[in-house]
Amino acid sequence: MNTQTLLDYDREHLWHPYTSMADPLPVYPVESATGVRIRLMDGRELIDGMASWWSAIHGYSHPILIQALQEQAARMSHVMFGGLTHRPAVELARLLVELTPAALDKVFLCDSGSVAVEVAMKMAIQYHYAAGHPKRCRFLTIRSGYHGDTCHAMSVCDPVAGMHQIFAGILPRYFFADRPECLFTQEWDDRDIDSFRQLIEQHHRELCAVILEPIVQGAGGMHFYHPEYLRQVRLLCDTFGVLLIVDEIATGFGRSGALFGCDHAGITPDIMCLGKALTGGTMTLAAVMATSEVAMGISRAAPGVFMHGPTFMGNPLACHVACASIRLLLESDWQQQVSRIEHLLEQGLAPCREMAQVQDVRVLGAIGVVEMKVPVRMKEIQAAFVERGVWVRPFGRLVYVMPPYCISALDLNILTAAIVEVVAGEGQP
Ligand code: PMP
Repeated sequence: MNTQTLLDYDREHLWHPYTSMADPLPVYPVESATGVRIRLMDGRELIDGMASWWSAIHGYSHPILIQALQEQAARMSHVMFGGLTHRPAVELARLLVELTPAALDKVFLCDSGSVAVEVAMKMAIQYHYAAGHPKRCRFLTIRSGYHGDTCHAMSVCDPVAGMHQIFAGILPRYFFADRPECLFTQEWDDRDIDSFRQLIEQHHRELCAVILEPIVQGAGGMHFYHPEYLRQVRLLCDTFGVLLIVDEIATGFGRSGALFGCDHAGITPDIMCLGKALTGGTMTLAAVMATSEVAMGISRAAPGVFMHGPTFMGNPLACHVACASIRLLLESDWQQQVSRIEHLLEQGLAPCREMAQVQDVRVLGAIGVVEMKVPVRMKEIQAAFVERGVWVRPFGRLVYVMPPYCISALDLNILTAAIVEVVAGEGQP
């Protein structure tokens, strides 16, 4: 199949994320990817600014991860987890229990980020159910959040930016506190927690859990909020006996400058969702960490078991490569790499601050965001980045990057220079 035939077939038959089948945006065919470079089928190479949506933290085709995949594929790619267990799952559980806050010592391994969110939410519901409070089955979250595309996950995504209107007929209706306004770098203002406090005070009798993204709100707007907000949320959850679920699917494994987002605030959640970078971007896997209190609580009353068990639970191939990816991260000087990226992003994106069409520029850890005043012209801006040899995938008003940690200063400078040029060319408000 030549490249054009492949593209024609793709356009005719394949859905891409959030795309129209009637009028799809162009896609770029990829031949291979190595380090921070994505090689297109026409031979062009793009410097990757996206780490494939937060996941490829070590870059692509890392020899250690390839070796792990090959070793495990030769032993067994998969066996069912019902009634069987294996070394990759146990070793991964051990690593995750050691790495995450001390009280999180129970691990549920599942398929993807959205499924992890479903699992976490079901855990919270079953915990209160087993405690004799079946009516405590609703959730409180904050606006501008994003937790995935399955139904329960959608129900706690931002109600305006999310998909609530389309699926209003089937989505449960939950509570949304105002988005935290106090930024990561600002002085804390106690009023920021008022909306959250009012809602939890008013509704705690029907709440099983709070769910939020810690510090970095990702796909819901790329906001970085103050760690004190998270500490106050923890205190209020404790006061009212509401569980706290943190969705670390995007923030986990160093992206924001701390190993986990909640480390910025020094808090321990009751349940934590991990995904994306868990396998270093090689394949899909997620983990839900829970405290013993949550896990044992679920078993306190009938049915006594946690009601979830997907076909590919604990997939050995994914678990083994996740172990290799985590060890690779821990053996690297990731903190230094991330703060080096932070510094270069600050410097490189600074010229955008002066542009009339730019609302804001913000950087945290290895995440850089240029927020425009109006939505970007997707097709044109995408082509402009590819022409400049970089891979940046904006959405709405956000042009943002989160490159693999191994990106060199030279490549990062090319990436930020391309952003400055392309943003300068976008329409004025
Ligand atoms: N939670 C957060 C914070 C995310 O960023 C995402 C993915 N963008 C998800 C959940 C859903 O993960 P997945 O796409 O693997 O289902």
